[in-house]
Amino acid sequence: MTGPFRKPGDPLAGDAAPRLTGAFSPAEQPLEMVLDGLVEGVLAVDLELKVLHLNLAAARFLGLQPEKALGSPISDLTDLSVLPETIRQSLEFGCETTAETEIEGPANQRNQILEFEASPLRDRSQKLVGVVISIHDITELRHLEKVRRDFVANVSHELKTPITAIRGLIETILGDDDMEEETQVRFLEKAHSQALRLSVLVTDLLTLARLESRDAILEPLPFDLREPIFTSIRASRSVEEHRAALEYDLPKEPVIVRGDPESLRLVASNLLDNALKYTPEGGRIWVRLQQSAGIARLEVQDTGLGIAPKDRERIFERFYRVDKARSRELGGTGLGLSIVKHVCLAHGGRVEVASEAGKGSTFTVVLPLADPHQFG
Ligand code: ADP
Repeated sequence: MTGPFRKPGDPLAGDAAPRLTGAFSPAEQPLEMVLDGLVEGVLAVDLELKVLHLNLAAARFLGLQPEKALGSPISDLTDLSVLPETIRQSLEFGCETTAETEIEGPANQRNQILEFEASPLRDRSQKLVGVVISIHDITELRHLEKVRRDFVANVSHELKTPITAIRGLIETILGDDDMEEETQVRFLEKAHSQALRLSVLVTDLLTLARLESRDAILEPLPFDLREPIFTSIRASRSVEEHRAALEYDLPKEPVIVRGDPESLRLVASNLLDNALKYTPEGGRIWVRLQQSAGIARLEVQDTGLGIAPKDRERIFERFYRVDKARSRELGGTGLGLSIVKHVCLAHGGRVEVASEAGKGSTFTVVLPLADPHQFG
């Protein structure tokens, strides 16, 4: 097949056409092969906006068949009015123009966001002969930007709440010379509890930032998983305000995994704290650890509030809380499960939840056991 770059009369053919030399035979049409190999779409149109060339990616992005599209005006081929508009602007002003458009995806899937970069196409004598458009799929990029923006907004909001409270309380004490000592102490205690909340939040944020960096676990050492779990059980049991009964079942023999014991203590204590927080008085909590077929399985089960299906999908997101006011009141930052998820991923494992609203939840952490041949 003769490629559009080789068509006689084509402004891109002959001298204007870029040439590649080297390992390709002329029959293989190296330029087309290269263009078709690109992840980016490449589309070239003439002064009448008729398609001169489009590579495979451009055809896929625009839902076109390359052979049928050649020679037709681009506005007849696509419903995306932004594309011919961008091309016209580039032709009119003789400069690069950029635009993006959102294409509605199937239900339950993200809309696709395409970016068009149109640049004037000139022949050797600098005469304008058309426009070349590169097409990028920037769906993921825009999604990540939104996640980052939401995160910054959430962090600012979460930090602002205790800071405003502390400021208000201290300003009230400073501005009232006649305040009774008892009231002063009460206000200071409130300011102190808000300062503690701030400190927990900052600690959680720093933990998350560390876990999200590539080298979260610098030196994964083999250790007995029972130890960090037992440490967090002991710490939780000493908190008297929790009135649910806690039972645990740890194996008699060591459960050796490779990684960072402190991070795994965080996993166990976050799951356990949540079970305690979201289980009303009189409820029950079980912590079980098992090992089989190369994996360690930690289960934290409670008879608490449970989590509805629509929330189950989101509770591992940073700052997602089913009931914000309740979580805050109980001292939650909304980051605990996000930390759990990241620790599990950094250890080559995963975390899952099974739950029924009003009946209780079971969080299961699955981690690969250390290879017994790799430690002595
Ligand atoms: P928080 O600091 O709010 O507890 P997490 O990230 O640990 O934040 O949990 C996110 C949300 O998931 C909680 O606000 C709560 O709504 C829900 N959740 C977590 N664990 C449980 C549980 N064991 N039972 C019921 N709901 C839970």
